[in-house]
Amino acid sequence: MNYFNPDVETMPLDKLRRLQDERLQKLVAYLYERVPFYKNQWDEAGVRPADIKGVKDLPKLPFTRKNHLRENYPFGLFAMPVADTIRLHASSGTTGKPTVVGYSRKDIGTFSEVVARSLVASGCQPGMKLQNAYGYGLFTGGLGMHYGGELLGMTVIPVSGGMTERQLLLLQDFRPEVICCTPSYAQRLSEELAARGIGPDSLNVHTAILGAEPWTEAIRAQVEAGMGVRAVNIYGLSEIIGPGVSNEDFEERGTGSYIWEDHFFPEVVDKDTGEPLPEGKFGVLVFTTLTKEAMPLVRYWTNDITNIYYEHSEKRTHIKMGPIRGRADDMLIIRGVNLFPTQVEDVIKDFEQLMPSYQLIVSREGAMDSLAVKVEVKDEVLKALGRPNLEQKPESLPDALRYLYGELGKKIKERIGLTMAVALVEPGSIPRSEGGKLNRVLDLRNN
Ligand code: ADP
Repeated sequence: MNYFNPDVETMPLDKLRRLQDERLQKLVAYLYERVPFYKNQWDEAGVRPADIKGVKDLPKLPFTRKNHLRENYPFGLFAMPVADTIRLHASSGTTGKPTVVGYSRKDIGTFSEVVARSLVASGCQPGMKLQNAYGYGLFTGGLGMHYGGELLGMTVIPVSGGMTERQLLLLQDFRPEVICCTPSYAQRLSEELAARGIGPDSLNVHTAILGAEPWTEAIRAQVEAGMGVRAVNIYGLSEIIGPGVSNEDFEERGTGSYIWEDHFFPEVVDKDTGEPLPEGKFGVLVFTTLTKEAMPLVRYWTNDITNIYYEHSEKRTHIKMGPIRGRADDMLIIRGVNLFPTQVEDVIKDFEQLMPSYQLIVSREGAMDSLAVKVEVKDEVLKALGRPNLEQKPESLPDALRYLYGELGKKIKERIGLTMAVALVEPGSIPRSEGGKLNRVLDLRNN
């Protein structure tokens, strides 16, 4: 099977556009009638549902932002009675109340279908086993992949996140062809396999579907070699539906992820002015859900920075998005210097002894911001050094690690212009949130 839904995935663009236009017209009428938030917002902006004839009119409508979801917590943006929904999810969020989303039976059908399309694009076929190492629970990753896998006819192994011993046992004994998890967890598994001398050839797994947090080509290379897989990107967010908003094709890895735009219409806008940007330019990704019933969102500001472009690929007609470069709100201002966490990641990447798993800790001492970076050392490096205790003072550590301490601090200072305290830590010791995401920034300044 090349496609889960060939008619839609290869639909000529003009036909796809007409379908989007029809769906959008219905959606705005539906929301204007049912959700006071939209009625008020559009009345204030002086736009009537009849002004929206198609997706080209979307820029007339205001954005919906995360704070609108918070202000209408928990169910204020629902377009149907909660009793008519069949599932609720919530995204963890780092502070305050979670963001709640609801699904009708049809929405769960849509969710399952876009995940099934994503699985086929990733190289999955009915009959294959899927080890699902995304967290099950309020996080959309676990159940989202689960339902999509079942719809496709895969045999789903609902192991959930973490529990490395068990993941390795199942990989060896159940012999799944496919695993899905966060990229940082896939790195962890690769390291563990190496540390235990389990060669990737002894496993049956050939595909790893990675998402829920940003990752890079360097991570792809590490996971592909370490696990003997093709590592494919899946992207999504709970507000829009969950994982499966877009997905890479396994044969087109590195060229962007297809957005299932018959359901999720994307725009990229300037992060400061909100103006729509031309195809290919980088900005904030904004989505309108064209078919959801329980909690549709119009022009939802994801805060994710990327670009979108048609590639005129032989395989599918839908638009692609590049990798997420970061979040518009990710930028830290430290002693007046703007800092994106990915800048630190770029420095770490050049040290082959380190994992790209790190955490920045911002605190305030008196009036001064101070910054520390914790970074995980590769297991094989610690093993070769006889497993030194990393909690001791850097001066007492083996030379190789003392050197790393000094060099990393020096390179960060040279390349970013900030002094950062460095702490080397054990692989896997940086906290992961629900779903196994790394918490890359810990900002203690407002505590
Ligand atoms: P939470 O808010 O609890 O983290 P979500 O699953 O809704 O839960 O998080 C969605 C966010 O995760 C996206 O907006 C994006 O920032 C990030 N994300 C998801 N998939 C990817 C991916 N493949 N690449 C980069 N970032 C991703």
